[in-house]
Amino acid sequence: MPYELITRLLGFPDFRLVNIETEERSVVLTLEREKMTFRCGSCGKEGLPGYDHKIQEVRHLLWWQHPTVIRFPRYRVFCPTCGVVTEEVEFLPVRGPRVTRPLAHLVYELCKITTHKAVGLLLGLHRGTVKAIDCAMMEKVQTERPLDGIDVLGFDEIAAGKGQSYWTLICAPEGPRGPELLHIVEGRKEKDLTPFWSWFGKERAQKVTHAVMDMWPAFRKSFLAHCPKGKVIYDKFHVIRHLLEAVNEVRKQELKRLGGAFKGLLSGKKFVLLARRSNLKPEAKKALSELLLVSPRLLKAYVLKESFDHLWDFTSRTWAMKFFRKWVGALKWSRLTPLKKFAAMVEEHLDGILSYCDRKVPLGYVESTNQKAKNVIVRREKARQELLSVIDSYGAVNLPSSGE
Ligand SMILES: [Zn+2]
Repeated sequence: MPYELITRLLGFPDFRLVNIETEERSVVLTLEREKMTFRCGSCGKEGLPGYDHKIQEVRHLLWWQHPTVIRFPRYRVFCPTCGVVTEEVEFLPVRGPRVTRPLAHLVYELCKITTHKAVGLLLGLHRGTVKAIDCAMMEKVQTERPLDGIDVLGFDEIAAGKGQSYWTLICAPEGPRGPELLHIVEGRKEKDLTPFWSWFGKERAQKVTHAVMDMWPAFRKSFLAHCPKGKVIYDKFHVIRHLLEAVNEVRKQELKRLGGAFKGLLSGKKFVLLARRSNLKPEAKKALSELLLVSPRLLKAYVLKESFDHLWDFTSRTWAMKFFRKWVGALKWSRLTPLKKFAAMVEEHLDGILSYCDRKVPLGYVESTNQKAKNVIVRREKARQELLSVIDSYGAVNLPSSGE
């Protein structure tokens, strides 16, 4: 019996297919109940008698290229606790537009990698419907996700796609469930972070004491606006990155100044100069020694670079400060302008750099998770751009009419 087969393929418990017809472009499947007891849509109590019913239609996954509509009797039940309420149906999501659970899941997954418009075109749904499903599903995931106990956040931006396109990743580097990536928002402006805060919740934000971030002002502003008592910790890796740039700048200056005979020694040596000495192989170490021998100025920059790391070893702000003063003091009579500029930048952000003395947040996590997430997002962004260009090339595709 083909209806039995389709019922089995459909896989909706307690429902049986009784009719298939086509209406306009859609396939309409009419289902009937296999048992006449129902579950309360409010408290979940089972085995309740029906109160009344009406015929409901919901969109299901595509049948080949055809939109499928499920038509079935939806009951209201009389629940001793809740009164007369609409029943809960297993194949329907609790919230959101009238679509089946499998379709809602598909929409939600596709929305992670592409635009609402594209998902609408793929599945024959109006863009607004896609958006509403996506929001309802996200809300569900959010409410089911445990977030309590987080007191440190990490912010990092990544460049995705072409041009000035950024995403912001927000993580919990040492939450009660271990390090976790919490949220991703498009953009890196203060206003772009608003969806994160409304998702995270006001009450939880009050309990956040620290946030690790780079020196991008929007992160700081956004964090302090939502966690007024919070302390900013500037991420070590970002600070060091600026230092490495400064040392490389010195190398370039020396290359220009010394020129001629030393050119071979100085050019193309960025890596040996900027890598940690302990990570270098013997030949690279030798090349480094030769390099530093020809330029005392570069040698000085190098020694300062290697020692700067020490700043993160302190647990006392006072001692860390003393160390930094001494480090800056060593620059005094040098002509290492790039390093002086770096020192001035550190000075400006010193409070946030020294915050690490009070709270040793595992800094590596922010960087490494973000690296993983970056790979995924950059790949997805590429896929999205491709998909968008495909959609654009279709021109005016017939979008399903609104109000679906
Ligand atoms: Zn109930």
